[in-house]
Amino acid sequence: MAAPQKGDLSASERAILELISAGDVSEAEKLLANQDMRVNCLDEFGMTPLMHAAYKGKAHMCQLLLRHGADVNCNQHEYGYTALMFAGLSGKSDITTMMLDAGAEVDVVNSVGRTAAQMAAFVGQHDCVSVINNFFPRARLDYFTTPQGQDMEPKLPPKLAGPLHKIVMTTNLNPVKMVLLVQGSPLLLAAEALEQCYGVMDLLCEQCLRQQDMNEVLAMKMHYISCVLQRCLTHLRGRDDHLDALVMSLLEGRDSDGFLQNQEKFIRECITKFPHCEAALLQQLVKSIAPVEIGDDPTAFSVLTQALMGQMALVDADFCFTCGERGAKKRCSYCKSVTYCSVACQRLHWFSHKKVCSALRAPPVANHDTPRIRELKDDESDLVRETANFLQALCVRAEEQVVAAGGCTAELLGCPSTSAQGPVCEREDQQP
Ligand SMILES: [Zn+2]
Ligand SMILES: [Zn+2]
Repeated sequence: MAAPQKGDLSASERAILELISAGDVSEAEKLLANQDMRVNCLDEFGMTPLMHAAYKGKAHMCQLLLRHGADVNCNQHEYGYTALMFAGLSGKSDITTMMLDAGAEVDVVNSVGRTAAQMAAFVGQHDCVSVINNFFPRARLDYFTTPQGQDMEPKLPPKLAGPLHKIVMTTNLNPVKMVLLVQGSPLLLAAEALEQCYGVMDLLCEQCLRQQDMNEVLAMKMHYISCVLQRCLTHLRGRDDHLDALVMSLLEGRDSDGFLQNQEKFIRECITKFPHCEAALLQQLVKSIAPVEIGDDPTAFSVLTQALMGQMALVDADFCFTCGERGAKKRCSYCKSVTYCSVACQRLHWFSHKKVCSALRAPPVANHDTPRIRELKDDESDLVRETANFLQALCVRAEEQVVAAGGCTAELLGCPSTSAQGPVCEREDQQP
């Protein structure tokens, strides 16, 4: 049959466009077997059946069409929209992932110069934005599963690529969550495996910094994952408890208010160990975190998440206190001040929370919804303005401190471990 032209549809092609709205997969499958059916046919606006299915949020239909050879990167649409853009607009993160897995290009822009992630952000589909921004093709990990150059062995045993990819793709950077992910995959729970995995993360971090269009965000994420894996490794070498005590130590709250100071210190440490001192992203993170006393807002975790994941990190309030998953609905029934995604997460945190639970219960005078993020959620425009003012004030203060400290980031975050290991980054103009 001829190459598809806009609006030139056979009877079967018209019929399948009708079926997509209804989501009738089995009828669609019959139509796809017809002689007069082209899976990449175009309606009068240049939309393929896959674009329709993505936009209407029909996951099974998308699967079926992709199986029949639908072109995920077709962009004959009158305004240059792709199937990935339609998936992002629909707000379906599963369909967005499916398009990415099928090889959708993330950098393609529509007729007004917007990428799929930017379009999804524009309509407030922040889950889809973070899925797109965090997409990491499995092939980039699989590359390390065959020996390269002079190597006799691959850097990454093939069996580890799957579990590691799962960690790389996570949009929740909470260190507890990441340790739980390691704990949940038996293949990773061994010193040798962790060594190999963090080695590959370090190599990827380097790659991201070297490549032509340098990707500092991805580099920072790879580095952060490497730090978490190294932390797990150090722990496993000390004891054979499947990381239980590591989870506990990350959830150990400060006596006075339950603040997770070990997590705060860990994340600050990870940031200061970033291997590329000149990176603008590193400077930005340090400026935001350095002036903040441990225990105050913003936490290093929120600053890091914001930088790597975008604004969704700030506008959504209901995070699980233990693992950082969003959409946590269960509150501590006594103090009502902490939220969890599951009973398991509440149990994990209880050993630490019980020390402050009754103190947290005492109601503050007028507004008992004290946590900053929750208080701001009701009015997002206020949130944006206040956050901007807040961060600007922080930057000014940090700038003064950066100058005072001779421009090196390590001292600013006050991490004891970095001074023990020497400065992270040597600068020529710095005198000891
Ligand atoms: Zn949780
Ligand atoms: Zn409580």
